[in-house]
Amino acid sequence: MDSNAYVTRERIDADGSGALADREVAVKDNISTAGVRTTAGSTMLAEYVPPYSATVVERLRAAGAAIVGKTNMDEFGMGTTTETSAFGAVENPVAEGHVPGGSSGGSAAAVADGDVPIALGSDTGGSVRCPAAFTGTVGIKPTYGLVSRYGLIAYANSLEQIGPIAESVEDAALALDVIAGPDDRDATTRDASDHYDTATGADPAGPAPAYGFADAADGSVANLTIGVVTDLLDGADAGVVGTFEDAIDCLSDAGATIREVELPSLEHAVAAYYVIAMSEASSNLARFDGVRFGHDAGKSGNWNESFGATRAEGFGEEVIRRILLGTYALSAGYHDKYYKQAQEARAWIKQDFDAVFDEVDVLASPTMPVPPMERGESLDDPLTMYLADANTTPVNLANLPAISVPAGETDGLPVGAQFVGPAFGEPTIVRVASALE
Ligand code: GLN
Repeated sequence: MDSNAYVTRERIDADGSGALADREVAVKDNISTAGVRTTAGSTMLAEYVPPYSATVVERLRAAGAAIVGKTNMDEFGMGTTTETSAFGAVENPVAEGHVPGGSSGGSAAAVADGDVPIALGSDTGGSVRCPAAFTGTVGIKPTYGLVSRYGLIAYANSLEQIGPIAESVEDAALALDVIAGPDDRDATTRDASDHYDTATGADPAGPAPAYGFADAADGSVANLTIGVVTDLLDGADAGVVGTFEDAIDCLSDAGATIREVELPSLEHAVAAYYVIAMSEASSNLARFDGVRFGHDAGKSGNWNESFGATRAEGFGEEVIRRILLGTYALSAGYHDKYYKQAQEARAWIKQDFDAVFDEVDVLASPTMPVPPMERGESLDDPLTMYLADANTTPVNLANLPAISVPAGETDGLPVGAQFVGPAFGEPTIVRVASALE
């Protein structure tokens, strides 16, 4: 089936051998690949061929993986359905007529199609976990700073991480192990060896340290306490909640202790997330002016005319909406009312998570409060689309790791369960997710 999962199908061979020897991997089209065009799903970058590769791409190749192509995505990562791409919408291979989730919908569709076992996405507010949930695949959003963002076309730097989507928890964990680790070219990365007792130690000469995440996929949950976030069940689709609760019962049967927890600050997550994400985006996307970067409308005249024409042609509707709202939120006079308040909500959400992780090892919720939407349904209703990110965005605001794993189906549509860990809690969330396979 052609689900329009790829923007560009061009192979980049492996450059070494290791944990991913002879594996094929697809890479989201906002991750730079030297010599292969990288569009971020935008007309603005339709002809852009990067002169260098992202660190994660070099690490995949060094570990033996071949890159088979660049996957379709919402323009600049802005969306939840992979319908805002300048290269056309992506079909959900497992739910005809429904969206594959977004913004890494092409990566998820490539995996769900059986085309590749592993694909990379990026997750600013759910863009790895949402498409994983909507296509019955596994997706990991790593702790902020675990994976280098060097070569990732930025949407909102303080929120996003590159993460794997895969057929199985073990493959997702393996891919994460390959791409994780400090990088001199991204000052927000750090060596996390001390946090992982499975770590075999950072090898400064090697492509990446081996943290041993795949070894944690052993399904042993007997000593773990899982907190079900009740705030994230209220208001969710009843079929989704039912499927999620069945998965929690399985974990209870496997020996985990289940508790209900409340995190009242989470009701502010979507609002805080969109103010911060749009603010950062308005600043990041200023570089696409047709002179330094991007499509050039070729209009002569003064700077305003040529800049305006270039950006009106190069950006789609959703991107323009976000640049305008982000610019507004940061402007003098409104900064205190929106941006500053959003940062305060972000701090409160972080505190709520910190406190609850004194009591539980992992938090659980449905990944998305709704099943995959029908195609076209949410395009004219941005607010409803934003609200669908209620369960995923708190994790990015708090810089925490989370995994989405298939929990079952409702009315024939896939449902994902999300497990959130404390910072550098990747082995624990991998362990819990693997118990559901
Ligand atoms: N749906 C969210 C947004 O549109 C998340 C996107 C993402 O994680 N890149 O911002």
